[in-house]
Amino acid sequence: VCPPCVEVVPCPGKGNGLFAKEAFSEGDVLFEENPVCGTAILMFSEKERAAAHCAHCTVHLGTGAEAESCPRHCGLRYCSKECLGEAWWAHHAILCSAVNPAYVAYEEHARECSNEYYILAARALAGLRHKGDDSSALHSAPWSGYASPLWWETMRRPVYGGSSSSSSSQSDCEAQTTWGSCPASAKGSSDDGGGSSMDRFFQSTVQAQTAETASLLLAALEADIDGNSTDPKCRGHQLLQGVEGLGRLVGLLRVNALGVMASPSPGEEGQSEPEEAPKEGAGSSDGLVRGMAMYAVASAMNHDATPNCYVASDPYAPVRCIVKAMRPIALGEEISIDYLQSAPFSAKERQAILENQYGIPSELSCT
Ligand SMILES: [Zn+2]
Ligand SMILES: [Zn+2]
Repeated sequence: VCPPCVEVVPCPGKGNGLFAKEAFSEGDVLFEENPVCGTAILMFSEKERAAAHCAHCTVHLGTGAEAESCPRHCGLRYCSKECLGEAWWAHHAILCSAVNPAYVAYEEHARECSNEYYILAARALAGLRHKGDDSSALHSAPWSGYASPLWWETMRRPVYGGSSSSSSSQSDCEAQTTWGSCPASAKGSSDDGGGSSMDRFFQSTVQAQTAETASLLLAALEADIDGNSTDPKCRGHQLLQGVEGLGRLVGLLRVNALGVMASPSPGEEGQSEPEEAPKEGAGSSDGLVRGMAMYAVASAMNHDATPNCYVASDPYAPVRCIVKAMRPIALGEEISIDYLQSAPFSAKERQAILENQYGIPSELSCT
C-alpha cells in the first residue's frame, strides 16, 4: 500500500510517523492516495452546496446532465458509473436511505450531533462486510495499526474562542460543530470555574451519546435490505464490540482523518460560475466545499507548526489527496503537515483544537 518513496514507522508518543526514503525538492509530489474504503464525507454544514457534488469522489457535477443517480432513488448522485459502483461496494448497498430506514434515523442522529465522524465510522464498518463476518475483520482493516483512543477520554469542554475573545459566539460554535466536537448539551456552559469535574461530566455526556449512536448504528448495519439476503450483512454486533468499539473508531477518525476540499468547478477557470450570494454562516468564503476522509498512508503524517509538506485535494477527484513538499526534504526526514492548514482559526483556537482533538501538547502546537 505504501509508496516506495516513504515509509510508515512507529513513532514513540505519537503513534505512527511517515518518513522520507529519498530526498525531495520544494514542490515535489511525494505521493497521491485514495481514501480508505474510497469514501469521504462532505460537511453537514454545507449540505445544500454538497448536493451539487458527486456523492463518492466529491467532484462538482457541473450541469448534471451526465450524473448517475442511485438506482433506488434515494436522491444521491454520482459523476460516473464507476463512482456509483465504488460507493455501492464500499457502503451504499447497505447504507442507502431508500431501503434502510434505520440508516435514515442514524444519519439524522449524526446530523443532530453535528458529528460527521459518525457517518465516516458507519461507512468504514460497512466496508468491512467484504472481509468476513467475524471480529477478525476489524484486525485486517486498513487502519488497524493506528492509535485509537476512546474519543470521550480525549474530550475537554470546548474552550476555544472563550471568555477573553471578542469574536461572536456563533462563529465559535460553527468552528466546533465543523470539527464534530460540540454536542448540543455542552453549548452554553460558560462557567470556567468547574475545571476537571466539568471535563468529566462532559466526557460522560459524550460517552452516553456514543452508546446511543452505537445502538442506532447496529440497527442500520444489520437491517434487512430489499427483504432478501443477497447483500451480506455486516454482523455489526461483532464489529462494533459495544460502545467501546465505536468510541475507539471515532477516536481514530478524529486523530487521523484529513480535510478534503472540493472545488466548485474544476478545470473551468475561464467559465467562472455566477457568484452565489453567500448566506450568513453557510459555506466557506473561498467557494470550496469541505469534507474529510481517512487515508492509509497520508494519515500517518504527524503535525508540525512549521511542516515540510502540505496536503492538496485532486481537483478532478477531491477525495484523492496529494502530498506535496513545501521545502526541500532530506532522506530519512519525518514528513509533517499542519493539521489545520486551511482552517480559519485564531492561534488560541488552533492550540485548543490541537490539544483536545489530537492530544498535541501546547508547547508543540504553538507557532
Ligand atoms: Zn465521482
Ligand atoms: Zn441510494
